[in-house]
Amino acid sequence: MENPLIVIFLGKSGAGKDTQMELLKEKMGFDYIGSGDLLRERKKINDFTGNKISYIIDKGGLVLTPVIFELWMQKIEELKNRGNVKGIIIDGSPRKIKEAYLLDEALDWYEWNKNIKVMLIDISNEEAIERISKRRYCVDCKEIHIDNGEVEKCNKCGGELMQRPDDQVEGVKKRLEWFKEEVEPVINYYKETNRLITINGEQEIEKVFEDILKQI
Ligand SMILES: [Zn+2]
Repeated sequence: MENPLIVIFLGKSGAGKDTQMELLKEKMGFDYIGSGDLLRERKKINDFTGNKISYIIDKGGLVLTPVIFELWMQKIEELKNRGNVKGIIIDGSPRKIKEAYLLDEALDWYEWNKNIKVMLIDISNEEAIERISKRRYCVDCKEIHIDNGEVEKCNKCGGELMQRPDDQVEGVKKRLEWFKEEVEPVINYYKETNRLITINGEQEIEKVFEDILKQI
């Protein structure tokens, strides 16, 4: 029976997960399930939950687990029925230990629990702070830039570059604390169940990707 490879990505902000997931998706033709995408889609529906998701996302808050998991189950169901699934990249979850248990139960239910790999893209706290506090976004085209002390305008459209309040050092430190509290137990859980693969995230993008491919 078909049992696609399930690849779960974990890592601190700034670890480069998005880039690596994108590369993997392209190279392997895997399907993708991202909590962010699912929530953005769900909030378009004008009902109680849709409106509440909009409100929470705008405030930068976290949507509660049952709401996200309903969307996850629907998406896995969709893929299960479609068939021809080579692999699935899972993005944005589990954010806490209870979500790790739930994800395992969901994969049990769909009989896709035989081949799960968890990629931890590992960087130090210092590196995370260094990378994120240099992030700037263009107010016009929203493109992300890295402030190297030279560029003052967007090189795509000439727009003004700004820093998200969240990306200032204090904001990053808060996210790192959250990571330690909520995500580290998740990492330990996958380590204890022999599914954790740690990738050194403090290398060139290509090198990180090579290391990931070796594990696939
Ligand atoms: Zn721009």
